[in-house]
Parts: sequence; structure tokens; C-alpha cells
Amino acid sequence: MSQIETEVLIIGGGIGGAAIARELSRYKVDATLVEKGMDFGQGITKYSSTIMCQGANVLEFRSEYHNSRLVWAGMPLMEPLCRELDIPFKRIGSLELVENQAGMRHPEKMIRRFNEYRGKYIPADTEPLQFIDRETLRSWEPNVNKKFIGALYDPNTAVNDPVRLTIAMVENARRNGVNTLLDTEVLEISAGTDDFEVQTNNGSIKCRYIINAAGEYVNQLAQMANADDFALYPVKSYQAVLDKKMGGLINHMVLSTQNGMVSPTVHGNLFFGISPGTQRLGKAHDHSTDKELADTALRHAQTLVPDVSAKDIINSFVGFIVFRNFEIGWHECTVGVSRWVPRFINASIGFPGICAAPAVGKEMVEILTKEGLELKENPQFSPYEKAMPDFSELSDEEKKQLIAQDPRYGHVVCRCETVTEGEIVEAIKRGARTLDGVKFRCRPGMGRCQGGFCGPRVTKILARELGVPEEEVTKKGGKSRNLLYKGKELLEAQQ
Ligand SMILES: Cc1cc2nc3c(=O)[nH]c(=O)nc-3n(C[C@H](O)[C@H](O)[C@H](O)COP(=O)(O)OP(=O)(O)OC[C@H]3O[C@@H](n4cnc5c(N)ncnc54)[C@H](O)[C@@H]3O)c2cc1C
Repeated sequence: MSQIETEVLIIGGGIGGAAIARELSRYKVDATLVEKGMDFGQGITKYSSTIMCQGANVLEFRSEYHNSRLVWAGMPLMEPLCRELDIPFKRIGSLELVENQAGMRHPEKMIRRFNEYRGKYIPADTEPLQFIDRETLRSWEPNVNKKFIGALYDPNTAVNDPVRLTIAMVENARRNGVNTLLDTEVLEISAGTDDFEVQTNNGSIKCRYIINAAGEYVNQLAQMANADDFALYPVKSYQAVLDKKMGGLINHMVLSTQNGMVSPTVHGNLFFGISPGTQRLGKAHDHSTDKELADTALRHAQTLVPDVSAKDIINSFVGFIVFRNFEIGWHECTVGVSRWVPRFINASIGFPGICAAPAVGKEMVEILTKEGLELKENPQFSPYEKAMPDFSELSDEEKKQLIAQDPRYGHVVCRCETVTEGEIVEAIKRGARTLDGVKFRCRPGMGRCQGGFCGPRVTKILARELGVPEEEVTKKGGKSRNLLYKGKELLEAQQ
């Protein structure tokens, strides 16, 4: 068992912890990021709808909310961040649909508020919100339900890939000096006068500051140190992904308060879900879906875009949005030093927390400085990362060149997403240790067959590259072994 000493311990390698780690790496600081999973970005971040928006559709679109101020500060940072880290980012715009004259009050209120905040809380160069009428809506989105009479248009809304962004931020933080540990679960925390003693499954860590960015588990971690001066309610939210062939059905994210949203993703699929009717204060960490959730979400999606069909769904899942108060659907964040334990900082980044993450990183620098940490610039800091090749996006000439350099790029392993052996090997070189690690880096298993064809082939490549037997390859670490037995063992087990 190892014993580590570090100045700042960040618990949780989701987008929140990753953004904080990367921001701290701009400074000369001894920081360590620990993640209990086998990869980064596999907590709430993995379940996000991947939409970067100002939150004009949520109750918290008001300057009193810390969450909104972080989202507004984070939004303009997102595109440059994705550019630095070579992560896809696409501005799609959003249309919040209006059904009748009474429904006009909401867009009018949001436009008034936006104009009041622009230049104050919202950067002055942000594109304005506007109302578009029925004819414009029809011409922009002919497949949206004809009953809607117009929409609140936010041209700033964008999509990206939050898991790739998280992994890239962690890689960048590591390159700039932050220590990162996977498969390291914090089990106990004891607070001394000047430092914390933290027990993990891999040994102990002594640190002066703790940043608790444990997502769905943020309360539990805070409780370990008696720093839980807040209450959070993880609320189950259902979502589904449609086959890429439906990708052209709509161009913008379309949404309504009652029916959730249907949106393109940055990879060309459509997503739907997170309507209020498909959110439940369920048993914490229970990620099961059921027919009622699925049927309700589909009905809501069809209210927005009637051609959304059950036969085109290729995957569905629930994630937990962390609410502060379920009754009024309040997703305020909890970012700040615990009122009870000095130097213990809770960072539950709320909804839409992906958008808020870059600003949370910046705010954390201010918080730590106020808490007495001296932060001097890291002269070696480089903000850049280069993404691995995405074969399916290359021109024919680029494909030929890549295959000439490495013939494994000529071997397509995932037919649905056109992922090559070269990409899978590169993903493993960059840290993937599991099927999900490969899938979230280069997409084998994200297509129509959901890994039915490529799963065994990716398992083989993982086993070969990691030098382990195939039956030791897991979906996501722990007991999630894909091949439980060798053929002979299976026969024996059945006897
Ligand atoms: C259905 C859904 C849709 C969403 N859509 C959007 C959207 O479109 N746009 C948007 O901006 N936001 C969206 N959000 C919100 C956004 O996804 C979250 O705000 C964000 O991902 C939270 O990131 P996080 O880093 O705080 O938590 P997480 O991603 O959960 O990261 C926390 C990490 O801590 C680790 N951890 C937990 N306990 C321990 C421990 N004891 N020791 C070590 N590690 C530990 C976990 O394994 C996890 O990896 C959505 C959320 C959901 C659920």
C-alpha cells in the first residue's frame, strides 16, 4: 500500500474534477486527482446530453443563482477550450418551442432577462436570444410538430463530447504536472488541524486541501469529513440515442418545458429525453431503466418531433442530475469551502454542469488562493493536446496516407462507426484499459449493433495490446468481465 503526500487532492475524475485539475496545472502546485473508476468521465459526465447552453429554459436563469453565473462564465470558454484540446464542438442553436399565446410569456421573460444580463453577467458579445415565428420555425425545422406557433431561439447553443473533453483535460493536466490515479477509491477522510488523512483502496494520502468533485457521491464524501453542510437529491433522468440514419431529422436542439428535448449530437446521432415526466427521485445510483420511463420519454419526444420512432432507438440509459430541492426542480450547484471544515471544498457543479465546468476550474483557483494556497504561474504550462485520428472523418487522401504509415488503419473493426484497428490500438496507447475506455475514445460499439459485431474483436485487440488473457478484459473494470469462461470452462460450469 502506498503513502502519498500532496498539497491539493481532487476527488473525482468527471468533467468537474478534470476542469479543476487542468486549471490548477497552470500553476506550480503539487496536486493529485484520484478517480475510483478505471477511466475518467464515466460518472454523471458520461450520461450528459452533451449540450452547451446558457440554461434559458431552466428556472435558474437568474443572476442570483451561482450555477447560472458559472454557466454564463463557462459558455464562452468552451469553444476555445475544445480548440486547444482538439475536441469536436459544433454550434447548433436551440429552439424552445411555444404552443400557444399563453406560452409566449416565457420567451418574452427570457429575452427581457437576457438583455438585462448581457454585458453584466453574460458576456456582451453573446448572440442575442430572439423569438422566431411559425413560418421561420417551419422553414428551419420542417419535421417539428406543426402545432407549435414559434420558438425562443438561442443561437449560442452547441454540442461537444464531454467524455473526450474530460479525458483530454486530464491528459493535459497530467502533462503539465498534476498527478492522476485511476482505480483509487476514497474510503475514509479524517480532518486534522492542518491537514487531511485520506484512506483509499490503494493506500493513504496526506493532503492540505481537498476538492470534493465526486458527482453523484459528493454528499457521501463530504459526510466522511463532516463537511456535508448541504443536501442534494440525485434525480434519475432517462435518455435515448437514435441511429445515425435519423441524424438529419432536425438541425437544432428542440425542446419544451413539458417534453424535454430532441437534439443532434456532435457525432451525428439524435438524442432525446430529460423531460420532467421522465425524472424520478429514485434509489440513489440505481441506473435501471423501465418501460414506463421509456414510453413516456418516447411520447414526449414524438410531441416535439413526430417522426422519432422506437425502432430507431439504439441505446437508452438513465443518469442522475443532482438537484438541491426536488419539489421545485432546483439544480443550484454547491461550489465552495465547507462552512464546517476549513480547506474542504465541495464542487457539485449542477445542471448544466458541463457548460459550467471551465468556469468552476477558474473559480477554484480563487477559492484556493483565498484559503491560503500560494499559486505561482507554471512557466512550462502548455494548453494544447492533439486528438487521435478519427478515420471516418478523414478525406480519401488522408486515409491513404494513414494506412501507408500504419496498415492497421486499413482494417475496419467497427462497421457501424467505421473504426479501425489503428484507432483502437492508439486509444489503448493513450490509456484505455477496458471496452468502455476504447468505446468512449474512438466509438466502437456506439453504432446500430452496439458492439454485437466489434465487441469480441475489440476484446481480442485489448488482450493482445495489454498482454492479458481475453477473459480478463472487462467492460469497465471490477467484475464487469465480458468473457466469463474459456469454452472448456464454460462446458464444465454447465455440468
Ligand atoms: C441525464 C443528464 C443529462 C445532462 N445533460 C447535460 C447537458 O446537456 N449539458 C450540461 O452542461 N450538463 C448536463 N448534465 C449535467 C452534467 O452532466 C453534470 O453536471 C456533470 O457531468 C457533473 O460532473 P461531475 O464531474 O461533477 O460528476 P461526475 O461526472 O459524476 O464525476 C464524479 C467522479 O467522481 C468519482 N468518484 C465518486 N466517488 C468517489 C470516491 N469515493 N473516490 C474516488 N472517486 C470517486 C466518480 O467515479 C466519478 O467519475 C446532464 C446530466 C444528466 C444526468
